[in-house]
Amino acid sequence: MSQIVDIHTHYSGRSKGGDPLGVGGAMRSVRVGRNMYSDYKGMPNLAHYELGDFQLQQEVSHRAGITYRLMSNPFPSEVLSEISPRSSIDVCKHFNDEIAEIVATAPNDTRGLGSVNPLEKNHIREAERLMGPVGFKGLHLVTSWHGAFLDDEAAFAFWEYAQDKNVPIFLHPPRVPIGANQQMDQYKLDELVGRPFDTTMCAARMILSGLFDRFPRLQICLAHMGGGLLPCIGRLDFGWQLGCEGMPERAAIKCKNLPSTYLRRNLHVDIMGGWAPHVREALEVFGPDRVMFGTDYGPIPVDPKEHVEIVRAMGLSPDDEEKVFWKNADAFFDLGLSTRLRPS
Ligand SMILES: [Zn+2]
Repeated sequence: MSQIVDIHTHYSGRSKGGDPLGVGGAMRSVRVGRNMYSDYKGMPNLAHYELGDFQLQQEVSHRAGITYRLMSNPFPSEVLSEISPRSSIDVCKHFNDEIAEIVATAPNDTRGLGSVNPLEKNHIREAERLMGPVGFKGLHLVTSWHGAFLDDEAAFAFWEYAQDKNVPIFLHPPRVPIGANQQMDQYKLDELVGRPFDTTMCAARMILSGLFDRFPRLQICLAHMGGGLLPCIGRLDFGWQLGCEGMPERAAIKCKNLPSTYLRRNLHVDIMGGWAPHVREALEVFGPDRVMFGTDYGPIPVDPKEHVEIVRAMGLSPDDEEKVFWKNADAFFDLGLSTRLRPS
């Protein structure tokens, strides 16, 4: 039986009433047809209605051949913790509980991924709740939190926890990315260019700062094939090879090995992006053991079948195709799907 696990799919129950987080009209959303328009921090944004329609998501995904979905909601915790009078941990908890509620309605084929801020030590408590009693399968973290990237010393306690407990980590760019104040308020550039480069900055900083030397067993999946990481990785390598002699200590590259070494040691990617040549490159660079199927369905209401067809057209061996479609995700997130398939 063939399976397809979509590790990258979002749901938000934003239509629910009330204002439990006391954020009032901060997002200033206006209805446009079935969608919602907002311009938080000056970034014009359309939220497609599919994001809030879980039943529709399930139907469309099943029609595309997807048999299992990992649900997350990466944006609101980071955005609203800046505005809400409630603590950031309460804000995260609110949105994590919403994901827990929705996956509980489809327990056979969905599981949740939770959001916390790795830069706040007390969020480890929320991470433990999610990975314990709540039953989530991993943490879906934004690549920068209020502009700070995740290699900062403030996140060391979190990375130590994630490494010790083998917590699967999925990194995803935030709603308002790096460079948002530099002419990104047109043509959806914040979403189309800024977000992949937020992921790129996060991954590059984690590699170059030596974070993966400090926590060598960390295993991290990057959304959107690593954002813009692959076109930049040769530059990271030559920067390292040329050395930093004469530069101030804080500016010098710290990692012990050639930056590209860490790709197959600590990183994984999903295939979301709708661009077959990038998927081919991801498979070549990371290898078929480190590439997982993901669609971003919900906020990106493109039929997930398009991503299925991109993988099918790669010309992979049946074994490698299964790895990309579900076996890698099964192992990375410990979903227990291979046991399910065994005849009883
Ligand atoms: Zn996404």
